Amino acid sequence: MTSHSTVLITGASTGIGATYAQRFAHRGHNLVLVARDKARLEALAESLRQETGVTVNILPADLTQPDELAAVEARLREDAKIEILINNAGAALSGSFISQSTEDVGRLVTLNTTALVRLASAIAPRLAQAGKGAIVNIGSVVGLAPEFGMSVYGATKAFVLFLSQGLSLELTPKGVYVQAVLPAGTRTEIWERAGIDVNTLADLMHVDDLVDAALVGFDRRELVTIPPLHDAAHWEALNAARLGLVSDLRQAHVAERYQAAP
Ligand code: NAP
Repeated sequence: MTSHSTVLITGASTGIGATYAQRFAHRGHNLVLVARDKARLEALAESLRQETGVTVNILPADLTQPDELAAVEARLREDAKIEILINNAGAALSGSFISQSTEDVGRLVTLNTTALVRLASAIAPRLAQAGKGAIVNIGSVVGLAPEFGMSVYGATKAFVLFLSQGLSLELTPKGVYVQAVLPAGTRTEIWERAGIDVNTLADLMHVDDLVDAALVGFDRRELVTIPPLHDAAHWEALNAARLGLVSDLRQAHVAERYQAAP
């Protein structure tokens, strides 16, 4: 990655994405900001131009709309100055699975997974060809815990983690860095948008702290960054247990406990 490469950030109009935009602008990177709210993007772009002097373009798009998503994919494919993708746009959905409408469930999956993987797919071949660049995917600790009771949201975030782990195996040897960032509850508009009163929640992380921690992980080229996890040994143990399980899979042989009694 070159120091003045361009960063494309989805969901940049507010919250975690807007904070990433602010931080990367102050690091001297030019930006392409993507979200639906054009007025908010323009206001942020103008203030970052004035604060930092970097070039900031906006690319308004609803990432659940195939033609608008395709325009962002085309930009990622064609604009060789973009070396970093921050795949951040996302939403949550409150309520139990049986109370959520099929329409809302579908839209959530489209935004949190389909759009995210399509954008990664649009940029990855070009970055691999260039032998540099980064893809940052914003997951969530909810993707580790069905017990949190947000099944569809958590499932989309489990997808983000798995995808990031897989892409890292493929792309790291080609010089492309992949990071999954797993925030826990962070004070942004996501709660209100999902119909959850933020004041009913326990303490949340400040969005500045979350993004600064994510960038510490980024600068260390860490694959999985979990800012609210205090003992990193827990993540390492989970990963080791997973690899232990995988090493015990014997494809051609049914495990003894499933063999019918003679
Ligand atoms: P936020 O404040 O609600 O911001 C979401 C961003 O995504 C906004 O810029 C929004 O802009 C954009 N967006 C929403 N729907 C979109 C669509 N259809 N097309 C394009 N852009 C869209 O949420 P946030 O907390 O910053 O969340 C950012 C990411 O962090 C998400 O992936 C979220 O799942 C993840 N995360 C958040 C938390 C938390 O507690 N806040 C915890 C774990 C993970 P427009 O409305 O202008 O389109």
